[in-house]
Amino acid sequence: MIIMSETYLKLMKYLDKSIALETALVLLQWDSETLAPEKSMELTAKSIGILSSEYYSSLINEDVKSLLDKLSEEKEQEQLDFNQKAIVKKLKKTFEEMEHIPPEEYQTYQELIAKAPGIWAKAKQEHLFSMFSPYLEEIMEYNKKFASYRVKEGQNLYDVLLNDYEEGFNTKELDIFFDKVKSSIVPLLKEVVKKNDMIKKEYNYQSFDTEKQKEFCNFISQYVGFDLSRGVIAESAHPFTTKLHNQDVRITNHFLEHNLESAIFSVIHETGHALYEMNVDSAITLSPVGTGASMGMHESQSRFFENIIGRSKSFWIPIFSKLKDTFPEQLKDVTLDSFIKGINKSVPSLIRTEADELTYSLHIIIRYEIEKMIFAGEANISELPDIWNQKYKEYLGVVPPSDSEGILQDIHWACGNIGYFPSYAIGSAIAAQIYYHMESIMPFHSYLEEGNLAPIREYLKEHIHKYGASKNTNELLMGMMKEPLNADYYVRYLTEKYTKLYEL
Ligand code: ZN
Repeated sequence: MIIMSETYLKLMKYLDKSIALETALVLLQWDSETLAPEKSMELTAKSIGILSSEYYSSLINEDVKSLLDKLSEEKEQEQLDFNQKAIVKKLKKTFEEMEHIPPEEYQTYQELIAKAPGIWAKAKQEHLFSMFSPYLEEIMEYNKKFASYRVKEGQNLYDVLLNDYEEGFNTKELDIFFDKVKSSIVPLLKEVVKKNDMIKKEYNYQSFDTEKQKEFCNFISQYVGFDLSRGVIAESAHPFTTKLHNQDVRITNHFLEHNLESAIFSVIHETGHALYEMNVDSAITLSPVGTGASMGMHESQSRFFENIIGRSKSFWIPIFSKLKDTFPEQLKDVTLDSFIKGINKSVPSLIRTEADELTYSLHIIIRYEIEKMIFAGEANISELPDIWNQKYKEYLGVVPPSDSEGILQDIHWACGNIGYFPSYAIGSAIAAQIYYHMESIMPFHSYLEEGNLAPIREYLKEHIHKYGASKNTNELLMGMMKEPLNADYYVRYLTEKYTKLYEL
């Protein structure tokens, strides 16, 4: 029998309380995005504020600090199992991120990023970057300042933030990664654009009854593996995934009458996130490592199901007739092959969230390059709209008609998420790498053609999902295929796919 460390037992009391408070906060947030009436926030916000500060102090306090220090000693470490070590490590990281920031600066910053999304939304609505730019300036300054409190020797400030979202990743590695992607994708896209008329998809923009869309989306989510006895599907303006633990995982979807594929691929994407959370091992689900390893790893799972599985012909072979039966009039002349071409069509566009697989990473590269320029002092906030537009013209060949479709399109900066965007591209690259690996060890496409997704889900569960955040991205990839992240697979995937699709 393993004797549990006394020190760890003491820490668990704090952990249990923090998780209870976090659960309440997650539910309130879920409610505000799905069912809460429009006017509720003004008064509910007060309770959220109080619960948030209770949550913060339940973990960030002197007792927890001394328990963590003690648990880091060799003698104590020997008494911890793998999961407990991972929990201690994760908590220490959170502590280190927080403890250098003076509480009053933290408080002011929290107020700033609580206010900024509202200003951003208004500026976006009125196409007026100058309305938002003073806030953005302040947010960037705070982020530089907070990073400067914990920057290590020889490290640049932007790297501090990148490492928060994706442990072990920095500008040196990301520059190589993005250069590789950019130098292959930009020329490939130029060839694709020339043949743009080759693929027709007018069928997608007819009128599709949203109740029927919902029915089909609920079917496809379960087909992919969403377990309704441990999950809920609701509606919200922007689809997202959240969870209380592995027995209660929630996703949302949204429906557009004149766009058939929007809801279908949103729900497959969110189901990918949900499977990750549902498969986290029960031993760690209610702990600080009871969630996905990182933003990039999470996005790799959602994009794996959405794009690599969901946009493949093999996946649709068993279920395309069901989609046609749901919309017999609209899809009567659409064959499986023309549908597959339609859902993979590439069109350079202005909006990242609606981008196809080929152009998606270029949207991310632009944001990454701009963030880097800001942190290197190479760009003033007032110059950002021009820099943005120039880069869109250069990489994608399109120019936003206003800042709302340009520099103001994403909410991330208003929420203080700086250094977050690269994770989206990392996720896509990981998904491609996992795909080639899985295809080499199992009859991947035959499983899809048979409508048998269980072996694919099981493999992901065993090698990624069950570990939660007890291992980081590269540790998971090494464990799975003895190779860390390698962008070559992503470039190969996009090149093969689009060369074939456009007969280049
Ligand atoms: Zn996602």
